[in-house]
Amino acid sequence: MYNFKFHKVDNIQDAVAILSTSEDPKILSGGHTLIPTLKQRLSQPTDVIDISNIDDLKSIKNNGNKITIDALCTHSQVAKSIDVTTEIVGLASMASQIGDPQVRHRGTIGGSIANADPAADYPAAVLALDAQINTSSNSYNSDDFFVDMFETAINSDEIITSIDFKIPKKSIYKKFRNPASGYAMAGVFVAIFDNGIRVAITGASIKAFRLHDLEKKLENNFSVDVLKEFNVDTTNYNSDIHASAKYRGNLVKVLLEEAVAELV
Ligand SMILES: Cc1cc2nc3c(=O)[nH]c(=O)nc-3n(C[C@H](O)[C@H](O)[C@H](O)COP(=O)(O)OP(=O)(O)OC[C@H]3O[C@@H](n4cnc5c(N)ncnc54)[C@H](O)[C@@H]3O)c2cc1C
Repeated sequence: MYNFKFHKVDNIQDAVAILSTSEDPKILSGGHTLIPTLKQRLSQPTDVIDISNIDDLKSIKNNGNKITIDALCTHSQVAKSIDVTTEIVGLASMASQIGDPQVRHRGTIGGSIANADPAADYPAAVLALDAQINTSSNSYNSDDFFVDMFETAINSDEIITSIDFKIPKKSIYKKFRNPASGYAMAGVFVAIFDNGIRVAITGASIKAFRLHDLEKKLENNFSVDVLKEFNVDTTNYNSDIHASAKYRGNLVKVLLEEAVAELV
């Protein structure tokens, strides 16, 4: 660690004020990613703004056609929420598969989405559920949000405040965990809406993405047969110490088959 100014705030306005006037600030939510990166000096901010005391950012609300989850909700809170477990089964199941109990009780949805780790689970849910990401000054559509590896569309003076998830007719998340970390070697989220189907993949490439061609095929014929004939294009898939692109491509296909079979 090295010296930085530490600020603990209890409202969004104070956090934004410090964020926009500091030289190189960082928001701290659960700290499960930020603290390790500080320790390794991968991140060396001048100011750390701890927002974990902002009570306005800790609720989950059912607004009829969407569920709004505030940024400081922990993964455990999302996994156990009555609204989420009854309305968006895939999202509750996804949150329950993150890391281990310690990670789920500390890590937050806002921190996870802001971090945009290519192996994180939430990005697949955000894309498949056509979520809207709300910040202290803007709103973003899911399809515009994840820009690159560890990079989102939000500006450096914005704080994620909540995420609106559309309620689908049915949804499911299937993941193949990295046995060491729990992160997704590959994860697939399938959501069925009245007006279409959305399929999103995480863990396979530099950022989460949708499979638009498969979505169209499944809209015409929602069956495992469609998957059997579907070729996963692994051109932009990651190869690393954990798995080759070809292996990840096979995982995606198998997980999609399982997901569609269960939804059918
Ligand atoms: C051992 C371990 C296993 C894990 N396994 C998984 C897993 O299986 N799947 C998975 O998806 N994740 C996993 N994670 C990640 C974890 O679940 C958290 O989601 C992640 O650490 C980020 O959330 P956080 O609240 O800890 O964010 P922090 O560490 O506090 O912040 C992360 C980044 O986001 C920024 N930030 C935080 N909150 C906001 C906000 N509201 N607005 C704008 N920027 C913000 C911070 O400045 C920082 O850059 C794991 C982590 C650990 C340590």
